[in-house]
Amino acid sequence: MQKVLEEALAIGRKHIARGECASYIPELARADKNNLGVCVLTKSVDRYTAGDTKTRFTIQSISKVISLAIALQHCGYDKVFDKMNMEPSGDAFNSLLKLDMASDKPFNPMINAGALATIGYLVPDLTFEDMLEYTRRVCMDKGIVMDEKVFQSEMANCARNRAIGYLLQSKGILESDVEKTLELYTRMCSLSVTAESLACFGLVLANGGRHPETGVRLMDAEAVRIVKTIMMTCGMYDGSGEFAVRVGIPSKSGVGGGILAVVEKRMGIGIYGPALDEKGNSIAGQNMLEYLSKSLNLHMFASEL
Ligand code: GLN
Repeated sequence: MQKVLEEALAIGRKHIARGECASYIPELARADKNNLGVCVLTKSVDRYTAGDTKTRFTIQSISKVISLAIALQHCGYDKVFDKMNMEPSGDAFNSLLKLDMASDKPFNPMINAGALATIGYLVPDLTFEDMLEYTRRVCMDKGIVMDEKVFQSEMANCARNRAIGYLLQSKGILESDVEKTLELYTRMCSLSVTAESLACFGLVLANGGRHPETGVRLMDAEAVRIVKTIMMTCGMYDGSGEFAVRVGIPSKSGVGGGILAVVEKRMGIGIYGPALDEKGNSIAGQNMLEYLSKSLNLHMFASEL
């Protein structure tokens, strides 16, 4: 396993030059695009790491998985999907296009429109501290804090998300205060994780929602099933289809450069590589996952056992 991870890292490095750090949130542009790390945590809780797996970076859109899981457990399936669909959008994660044209509802909870709607359900009842605490538990990482600089930087440059929020309000989808919703969403995006924390979260999901060592349930089985399925179909935005063919592992990316990947009943994988492709997915990360999928036979429809 260690050898395969080192090989994956070498392959990933070759792709970094073709990507760029996100710049629409100015603070993210300051990351070193050459950072790269991968962590695999197996069912038996053996931890394998290569590269920058302890470097903190902001979780960004991967927090959408956590918010969705919290909402499903807190409000239930019917409420969450009353005003939101679960279909891939085929558009950029921050697009407003189809929200106003083809559909009255956000396409899915993994794009910004859907995540803002999801957070809207939580605003009246839960605080940021509640959500931070839950994130620390499922990532098994007490060191997670909010990165104040990234938070301020995004809040100062969130016209698009604000527009999405008010559009959702105009359609009666977002009933909570738009500014409060936007703030909680942005706080969640600004949580600082590592490739290792994402691998831990991945293993909890791979393990049906139970802590891999204690067996304590951290997430409802039904919520786990739903978030993994939506990660598979929508987790890499408008790159989800090709990623499913090439890699075949339910995954969620964030513009901070993270990827969370869940190999059912086998392992959690966490990636950090802030050089992104044009869709906002870690370019080296995707190639590393493709290599791991092939080398370790991890594709959910692998042709050989
Ligand atoms: N905070 C980012 C945004 O709302 C998250 C997007 C992402 O990671 N794709 O634009």
